[in-house]
Amino acid sequence: MHKATEANLYHRYHIPTEDVPDIVPWPPRFKVQVRKHRLALLLLKELLHYRGNLKVVLSRPCIYGVFSGPVGGFAPREQYCVGCLRCTTQYPDVVQILPHPERAKLGDSYFTPHYVTTVAYEATTGRVPVRGAGYRGRFGGEGWDGMWTDMSEIVRPTRDGIHGREFISTMVDIGERPDHLVFDDRGEPVTPPRVFGIPLPLVFDQLPGMDRNPALARVLARTARELDTLALFPLEALAHVEPDGRHLVPVVPREAARGLRLGFQPRMVELAGWDPDAYRALREAFPQAIVALRLPFGDQDTLDAAFATGVRVFHLTADYHGRLPDGRFVMEGIREAHLFFVEKGLRDAVTLLGSGGIIAAEHVPKAIILGLDAVALDTPVLVALQARFPGEFRTPQDPYTLPDPLPVDWGMKRLRNLAASWRDQLLEVLGAMGLRDVRRLRGEIGRSMFQKDLEREAFGEIEGYLEQAAVGSVQPAVGSAQPAVRSAQSAVSSQQ
Ligand code: SF4
Repeated sequence: MHKATEANLYHRYHIPTEDVPDIVPWPPRFKVQVRKHRLALLLLKELLHYRGNLKVVLSRPCIYGVFSGPVGGFAPREQYCVGCLRCTTQYPDVVQILPHPERAKLGDSYFTPHYVTTVAYEATTGRVPVRGAGYRGRFGGEGWDGMWTDMSEIVRPTRDGIHGREFISTMVDIGERPDHLVFDDRGEPVTPPRVFGIPLPLVFDQLPGMDRNPALARVLARTARELDTLALFPLEALAHVEPDGRHLVPVVPREAARGLRLGFQPRMVELAGWDPDAYRALREAFPQAIVALRLPFGDQDTLDAAFATGVRVFHLTADYHGRLPDGRFVMEGIREAHLFFVEKGLRDAVTLLGSGGIIAAEHVPKAIILGLDAVALDTPVLVALQARFPGEFRTPQDPYTLPDPLPVDWGMKRLRNLAASWRDQLLEVLGAMGLRDVRRLRGEIGRSMFQKDLEREAFGEIEGYLEQAAVGSVQPAVGSAQPAVRSAQSAVSSQQ
């Protein structure tokens, strides 16, 4: 019989989920506007029709209980409304269903209420929000919405990852992967590659305010440990959590790199901003660790210089709205960084992490197709924890509020649900593409289509189309401006 070792003990990665309701009431999705005098007339009519059965009369016409409170439709219970529009279809002069104005204040102009609702549903249930044939929203748009994944299962063997009948790996490698090894006289590798795996292409980015909010720091540290992934931590926030070199990644400003002492040996350290001396200081201080470099997208010269000095893991950042320093959208930054290393024949030697503007589950496979190895989550983490943005939340300096107090156990379960839901959606994409390993998806641009290209192919020969497309009145450029704003109806179907 085999002796059980780490190598032969098979363990299938699984993220447990459970219902984790909101702790702060969100505004309802719909405003149920009732004309009370017309309702009174209707009730009188129905009293006769239903022979005085008040319970039935007061609950009509909604099967979801919106009109089933003590005074029926005179005080509709909007939190139960799913927006099916049955009531207003039958009695348009009595009731109107409108998007709730308070709901429209959730998130900001990029993290729109639609995305907030979706992330909140994922964090609450751990399930996939199914749109299916009932989806009545837009099928294209700007930014991420202008990129479609090719999931034509008819021409590829479909794989079934979510339900577990066939395993699809979501493991990714973080570190350097040299294209060949050099061995010494004793057969030992001269420079063994520094690389480790994480079971899903998601890590948690550092969040503003973690240093002042011990509960938030603990939520992130605990979730990273539960999921066996990484949480990036500003140095000041490390004081709030147990030392954990496997899951915590200290983010070190350039000026703090020399003489840094942590009290534990991390698997990875991230240097914020390029400074060759600071990089060498971190390599010396943490010889076992991977020293990654954090820098904004779009700086090819620094990528080049840092690679030449030995950096093999890059964490490229856009702002929270997915904007690069030069105003372009993050999709272009990812593609550019990926191709930069592809053209040098070095892509397999480096790992690219990316963050900023990645706010929905579908953005993860799209970012990987464009060239990332893994995504660092920022604003979706805050939204899953019911953060509110009083204005635009675009940079770490912009204010936001979290539930106070923030229960650590609740927060950890919400983020675990979010990760489970996003992983399942990634498995759906991989399964429909016939892929059994997310590493095969990286840079596979052939697995995607761009609305811009398809429309140009279809309409390019129509007189005037190209001119109008150039000024954006027909077809927005990939990655420009904000994501499409969905109607209240599409928000409904996203939850059904
Ligand atoms: S829209 Fe549907 S769920 Fe909402 S109140 Fe009307 S019948 Fe009820």
